Amino acid sequence: MNHESGYAVRAKKSLGQHFLTDLNIARKIAEAVSGGGAVLEIGGGMGVLTQFLLERDDITLWGIEIDRESIAYMREKFPDFATGRNAAGDLSEENNVQEEGRLIEGDFLKFGLRESFPKGVRVVGNFPYNISSQIFFKVLENRDLVPEVVGMVQREVAQRIAEPPGSRTYGITSVLLQAWYDIEYLFTVSEGVFSPPPKVKSAVIRLTRNATKELGCDEALFVKVVKAAFGQRRKMLRNALRAAFGNFGGEEHPFFTERAEKLSVAQFVELTNWVGERI
Ligand code: SAH
Repeated sequence: MNHESGYAVRAKKSLGQHFLTDLNIARKIAEAVSGGGAVLEIGGGMGVLTQFLLERDDITLWGIEIDRESIAYMREKFPDFATGRNAAGDLSEENNVQEEGRLIEGDFLKFGLRESFPKGVRVVGNFPYNISSQIFFKVLENRDLVPEVVGMVQREVAQRIAEPPGSRTYGITSVLLQAWYDIEYLFTVSEGVFSPPPKVKSAVIRLTRNATKELGCDEALFVKVVKAAFGQRRKMLRNALRAAFGNFGGEEHPFFTERAEKLSVAQFVELTNWVGERI
């Protein structure tokens, strides 16, 4: 995929660079962002998705990209975006990130989301797959600020996150994300539409912040219970929970004979409260 000048960004494996070459898919991802306002694209690369996001006049787009070469490419391709000029109405008064323009060179995982977007921001991107879980954990930490995420990830990761209880791939990230977000598996994307093609299939998912303000239990303990439960996912919960928390004075919870993958978010909340009263 070459720029008019014949120049293109050299794909770097260490940065998870697989450039999308199918414009229809890029357009569909941009359209899947359901609300407007401030939107942050992670890892714009050569801007295939960026161009469609910039076309939306209900969105004020920011971008964060770690790769200097990609930044240079996008600065040339989208000069207005890079300097922070804005067609949609300027949200820069509400947000604190515009000295550098709206295209930021940096690492999303180290980026001060709260300082930069105190009023909140939607997150979108064809994510670098090597850090997709870390991106979701960062979203969870900032869930009060992030109403929506639209992301392309490895298909297995998308399935895991979106699956309901009872499925084989339902796991820790499924429960923790589903506690705070409604998850939709939007569509599957094949290897062939990337350059270079990744080894695995991809999928686009949408996370929409649900109405939950508080879980109804100690949230730190909830995370511990979920992690402990899935630590031994093939065993009954009794074993997994006793290994992590002790034997609860010999008491049994009705879920003790279930396996972690069967429990819904609400049931994990119930279990967390029960554990909390006994440790
Ligand atoms: N959006 C482009 C590129 C996707 S590849 C497309 O669809 O073609 C993933 C992109 O994420 C790469 O450009 C890579 O440089 C960038 N990236 C990798 N790690 C990053 C990080 N920690 N923070 C921000 N961007 C990152």
